[in-house]
Amino acid sequence: MNRLMGVLFFFILATGMIVAYSTNSIARDARGISVVVIDPSHGGDERGVTLKEDIFEKDITLAMAKQVQKYLEGAGSIKVELTRTSDRSVSLSERVKKAADARADLFVSIHVNAGFGRKASGFEVYFPGFKGPSAEGSGSHEIVKDMVRTQHLNESVRYARLLLKQMERVFPRKDRGLREAPIRIIKELTIPAIVIETGFATETMDRKYLLEPLKQKAVADAIGKSVLEYF
Ligand SMILES: [Zn+2]
Repeated sequence: MNRLMGVLFFFILATGMIVAYSTNSIARDARGISVVVIDPSHGGDERGVTLKEDIFEKDITLAMAKQVQKYLEGAGSIKVELTRTSDRSVSLSERVKKAADARADLFVSIHVNAGFGRKASGFEVYFPGFKGPSAEGSGSHEIVKDMVRTQHLNESVRYARLLLKQMERVFPRKDRGLREAPIRIIKELTIPAIVIETGFATETMDRKYLLEPLKQKAVADAIGKSVLEYF
């Protein structure tokens, strides 16, 4: 294959992949149902950060995830699946498999933050980051795969912005922003995916809010609203 043919071949392949990808999204829309997987982080022996002597991150994230499900089920048109519905430990691969089996269009992992000194407070959203295995020097297939991945990342950022806006209403002036990090759970998924750190267990006011069922519901509603806006 000469150079021109190679370039031509690449463009045909790339166009085909992008059309296939968009058609897939359109097919989902036609079906009228979008699927979001909500991931209450930690569980079982893996308790996450401690908020009170017997209340841990795993409890807060599960309570919020169940509320998100309730919120979105009330709205119809969106199917919600949770990676766990009880206090049990779930492996990373199990969570990834759950998203694949559900044919999820969006993945939202809920966490509680800790550290960065006792004064750090507020919420932040992470997306997987554009830095990945470079397509440089590899074949056109890898370049196309990179393009599809970039599209997922753009969608992750689009969703993250909607979520940050809704969270700002729950916790005004507590926005620590959109951050890029190669967090494994969202890095391994091949769909738009984010991690939300809802607040700091190590800061007095954040901790108080996170323990309040009404604030937990407000956070869950913010996630639910942003999901509705996204689809
Ligand atoms: Zn966590």
